[in-house]
Amino acid sequence: MQYISTRSSSVNADTSAAQSFSDILLGGLAPDGGLYLPVTYPQVSGVELDAWRTLSYADLAYNILKKFATDIPDDDLHALAHKTYCQDVYCNSRSDEDAGQITPLRVIQKKGDTTLILQALSNGPTLAFKDMAMQLLGNLFEYTLAKQNAELNIFGATSGDTGSAAEYAMRGKKGIRVFMLSPHKKMSPFQTAQMFSLQDPNIFNIAVKGVFDDCQDMVKAVSNDLTYKVRQKIGTVNSINWARVVAQVVYYFRGYLSATTNNQQKVSFTVPSGNFGNICAGHIARMMGLPIDQLVVATNENDVLDEFFRTGVYRVRKSFETHHTSSPSMDISKASNFERFVYDLLGRDGDRVRALFQKIDTHGGFDLSGNLGSDGDEFSKLAQYGFVSGKSTHQDRLKTIRNVQTMSGVTIDTHTADGVKVALEHIKPGVPMIVLETALAAKFNETIKEALGHDAERPAGFENIEALPQRFEVMSTDVDQMKAYIAKHTGL
Ligand SMILES: *Cc1c(COP(=O)(O)O)cnc(C)c1O
Repeated sequence: MQYISTRSSSVNADTSAAQSFSDILLGGLAPDGGLYLPVTYPQVSGVELDAWRTLSYADLAYNILKKFATDIPDDDLHALAHKTYCQDVYCNSRSDEDAGQITPLRVIQKKGDTTLILQALSNGPTLAFKDMAMQLLGNLFEYTLAKQNAELNIFGATSGDTGSAAEYAMRGKKGIRVFMLSPHKKMSPFQTAQMFSLQDPNIFNIAVKGVFDDCQDMVKAVSNDLTYKVRQKIGTVNSINWARVVAQVVYYFRGYLSATTNNQQKVSFTVPSGNFGNICAGHIARMMGLPIDQLVVATNENDVLDEFFRTGVYRVRKSFETHHTSSPSMDISKASNFERFVYDLLGRDGDRVRALFQKIDTHGGFDLSGNLGSDGDEFSKLAQYGFVSGKSTHQDRLKTIRNVQTMSGVTIDTHTADGVKVALEHIKPGVPMIVLETALAAKFNETIKEALGHDAERPAGFENIEALPQRFEVMSTDVDQMKAYIAKHTGL
């Protein structure tokens, strides 16, 4: 399996620029600014799908991964999948759910012939779905770095979510250090405790006296110094990483196989979306032949994706236009994985993709509505990819959290609430609608209290994390001081 950039020229879309899975694993963007995708999507036959029905999550992940990571020996991949998905946090799951299955389904509403189902994905160490993919990434990184006798220093900024998932995935991993910036005293006490209580010597938490944007600016400043970046072996783990997307493809297969008994049945998925990473994995599962009916994109007030799927116009927002909402992990101004879907939508025409995404820089977006003067008429083709969308607001979240609590006794988090709200607008008789749960309610307790009048339940092991000893460095926004700090700890 070879990988090409979404911006590779269609005239010479030969294999000269193609890369293997291991080649692109540690990197981010392709050199031409595009994102990597497989040259063709591997197909899954009905026979295979049937054979997969009884597999454990780890074995299912292995079978899917094997189709994408063809340059890693099977035995090694098998071991990596088992190391990731048979660790205690997943297989001795804190809840009493089927441990081998890891992402159990729960019916939260059955009305006549419509069924609304929640797929649990948030039992990882930071109580968010990102853990599931990130934990695999940690093991893949360690494995690949050891083979290349290389090391990697991950440098990033976080307002809470991605950063802590990355730290929990990389803690104790050989050949890897993590330097993570966060805004000093701006994260919730729970999130701060989650990150700063890590005592692993390869994890460096840096609390920057400033806001999240200051942290991001520092990451950019350091990354723009190419000599320094190469010398210090600096890398990232952002949502465009291809292996993260592949790891997420497994959710859809597992969800489908658990909700159905034969391959004639279809299901739909609703996905609380921000950077389009999770639902992009759903699109890939569908392209591989998984019988998915609809892929429902749910956004919050930051509705850049909902606008596209309703109108065909993709208009990225300015940072001052971005709303700070009670589902903060979906507060995005542009969706960094969206280009992967657009590449397929445009019939894999890399020249057009490049032109459209360059137009974002010059004109703030593009228009595929098919109207006079637009950039194309692909809007009419969206239905054939199963995509529909909707948006949700703070009031919708509160109402949905209350409704789901009343209907099923389950307390859902704010992001999942955006999903349920939009799912109910698209649910059809005879086609189970699976909403992907993207976090546990305990992470967003403020809004849970507002909705329900009491605290969200904390899973076992998290009761008192604010009292644990914390290890972090406070720093000003001085880029040179930051560079010196990293160099001192890498010894490079
Ligand atoms: C990251 C995240 C999302 C959005 O996922 P994307 O892959 O960026 O679309 C939704 N909910 C939660 C809780 C998240 O952490």
